Amino acid sequence: MRYISTRGTAPALSFEEAMLTGLARDGGLYVPETIPTLTPEQIARMSGQSYEEVAFTVMRPFVGDTFTDSEFRDLIAKAYAGFGHDARAPLVELAPNHFLLELFHGPTLAFKDFAMQIIGQMFQLALGRKNARVTIVGATSGDTGSAAIEAFRGLENVDVVILYPHGRVSEVQRRQMTTPGEDNVHALALDGDFDDCQARLKDMFNDFEFRDGVQLAGVNSINWGRVLAQVVYYFTSAVALGAPAREVSFTVPTGNFGDIFAGYIAKRMGLPIADLVVATNQNDILHRCLNGQGYRKGTVHPSISPSMDIQVSSNFERALFDAYDRDGNAVAQLMTELAQGGFDVSQGAMQALTEIYSSGRASEEETSQTIADFVTRTGELLCPHSAVAVKVANERRDAATPMITLATAHPAKFPDAVEAATGIRPPLPARMADLFDRPERLTRVANDVEALKTHIKGLIRA
Ligand SMILES: *Cc1c(COP(=O)(O)O)cnc(C)c1O
Repeated sequence: MRYISTRGTAPALSFEEAMLTGLARDGGLYVPETIPTLTPEQIARMSGQSYEEVAFTVMRPFVGDTFTDSEFRDLIAKAYAGFGHDARAPLVELAPNHFLLELFHGPTLAFKDFAMQIIGQMFQLALGRKNARVTIVGATSGDTGSAAIEAFRGLENVDVVILYPHGRVSEVQRRQMTTPGEDNVHALALDGDFDDCQARLKDMFNDFEFRDGVQLAGVNSINWGRVLAQVVYYFTSAVALGAPAREVSFTVPTGNFGDIFAGYIAKRMGLPIADLVVATNQNDILHRCLNGQGYRKGTVHPSISPSMDIQVSSNFERALFDAYDRDGNAVAQLMTELAQGGFDVSQGAMQALTEIYSSGRASEEETSQTIADFVTRTGELLCPHSAVAVKVANERRDAATPMITLATAHPAKFPDAVEAATGIRPPLPARMADLFDRPERLTRVANDVEALKTHIKGLIRA
């Protein structure tokens, strides 16, 4: 299995190389050269299997010879052992034919743990046997950073530096990044928004001297390994509801387009998915684009669902690559136009996109209202991201097709928004109840790539 860049000029890489590098050297994102498919019989056999067994079947064809079967099984087992629920990703019925897929039982209470925990295991094995080391620099709107720090803390071959937008993450998110004491993990609070963090990260990747000097690696959702790990729960949940004999739809609270793109990969692999619904908050560039208004950057408006406060959705480039029939030149051209503010999607590509994805948005008021209605009706609390998706799913679903809505974080990760909507302050699960007592460690940094590079060179271990 080879991986090619969405901009068409970077060299093709193996799974291991694509995973360890993150962003392609032509600025593009790595995608598999071909998408392996599973037969309906193979999918049907997943019924009744453990999450780990399904994970093996789904991911194995993408990994090539990077890991042996037994190494790979072992990685999967280690990655999910620390989850707080035996099913890993349990499915809960909300209403007739509407289900919530709970993806928040991992160590940092957001779905990012599904990918990050296994990426941590894969990096450790791949680097350890080569006696190599890397510096992981990640940008986060909150949940990626905490999941990465949790997954990589204390690992011998990795230094981790996380950039988050100062003052724009929740206190639980910040504390999950700033309280681990291991000296290989560092939280940097950048003066700017998430798009600034992401842009500085790209600047660092595009400076090849710095990139090679510190052995820079990325674990943002642009990393193919992240997307791949997220394909698994589309299978487990759809099969639980009768796939492959029965079609299902998904609604996904979307920011960087990584999670929903994993749903698209599941569909391409043979899972019968009727509709993939992109749910956005008031930062709705994707919703506007999928409704024919072009892909145009606005300014980020901070919301109560901060992990989706994004104007440039990195993984959307992967969707565009396929919508433009894998024409890397066309994608490179679009990305040049995006740097000037935005672009129009061609008619053919729009058609390809809208055949797969539909979309909806939730305003701040609608999000709060959904959290309030939900607790009244079910007694359960939703995190604001999940509430955005529930609101949109209710608009989009029909009576015939089961709708699976992804619940991407635990409500206790966003207690202020949940309390404002319901009057109830969601408690942290017992295993992290002392989070507010642990000492914090963080550094404020300017939105300046040169200063950042100097700072990072000073942090990393030789
Ligand atoms: C990251 C995140 C999202 C958005 O996921 P993408 O893959 O970036 O689209 C949604 N909800 C929560 C809680 C998140 O942490």
